[in-house]
Amino acid sequence: MKPAPFQYVSPTSLEEALVNLAEYGYDAKLLAGGQSLVPTMNFRLSQPGVLIDLNNIPELAFMKSDSDGSLHIGAMTRHRIVENAAEVAQYAPLLHETMPHIAHHQIRNRGTIGGSLAHADPSAELPAVAIALEARFRLRSQRGERWVAARDFYIGLFTTDMAIDEILIEVAIPPMPPRSGWAFDEVARRPGDYAIVGTATQVVLDGAGRCEKVHLVFLSVGEMPVPAKQAAAKLLGQLPTPELIAEAAKTAASQDVDPVADIHASRAFRRHLAEVLANRTLTRAFEQALSS
Ligand SMILES: Cc1cc2nc3c(=O)[nH]c(=O)nc-3n(C[C@H](O)[C@H](O)[C@H](O)COP(=O)(O)OP(=O)(O)OC[C@H]3O[C@@H](n4cnc5c(N)ncnc54)[C@H](O)[C@@H]3O)c2cc1C
Repeated sequence: MKPAPFQYVSPTSLEEALVNLAEYGYDAKLLAGGQSLVPTMNFRLSQPGVLIDLNNIPELAFMKSDSDGSLHIGAMTRHRIVENAAEVAQYAPLLHETMPHIAHHQIRNRGTIGGSLAHADPSAELPAVAIALEARFRLRSQRGERWVAARDFYIGLFTTDMAIDEILIEVAIPPMPPRSGWAFDEVARRPGDYAIVGTATQVVLDGAGRCEKVHLVFLSVGEMPVPAKQAAAKLLGQLPTPELIAEAAKTAASQDVDPVADIHASRAFRRHLAEVLANRTLTRAFEQALSS
């Protein structure tokens, strides 16, 4: 299958890319790793008149940690680089744990963190992880720059808060407080497939071992990542006993998520997986927080 004809531009700086984007507007698409965009173009589900290639802009591919322990990852950083980075393992272990679940090696060699976050596929791992980590996104257009919290960025199916003339520049992940724990898990038909259901979890305990903060975020259960707010309300301020975790997981599956049936799973099976995965990841995250 071949894409519809398009014009191709290859800016070598961010400023040039922003000029291109402002000029071509709705007719343009940004090309990052191409792992989602190119298949949709080949199927002619997407027919941009102009493709603006971000691959020759070195300033978009970087990774740096601040002295306060926060981690900044440029949008054009490939999945594989993120997966293998010592900084990610140290400062954002939830992200490190999640990376091997994304597609296959070949796709991770090319796909980018910014492409995945901007694409906003509700079955993708990274948007859910970004919300669990309280990450923020830096967006730039010719009009200026702004930061958006990951939890406010996703507003619908493949839809974000990003304006047509904005480029996602970087993701910033704040430092993990002491007594933090994390876990990611998903169920997929085969390794490398998109998850039927997945869960990204990060928790923080206070000095008395009570739950001070909990982020339990699901993927593949709705039109965008779903933070389990009712389940979190059950846990906050409490000692995370196995009974309470089980109750929170049940609440998440029955009240927080509202999955749909498709060829991969029924609604009931997705709810069942949501409860099992919530229980599993919360248990692991709290155990880790207790032992840290
Ligand atoms: C067979 C297969 C299996 C896959 N399995 C998984 C999986 O299990 N989990 C998963 O999460 N993903 C999976 N993917 C998708 C993969 O992770 C993609 O790399 C990712 O979704 C998109 O990243 P990309 O860099 O390739 O972006 P592209 O495909 O180049 O772009 C995707 C979209 O984001 C926009 N965009 C890209 N960069 C920016 C930016 N900096 N600012 C603003 N907009 C931007 C583009 O214009 C486009 O609309 C799979 C892909 C394939 C082909």
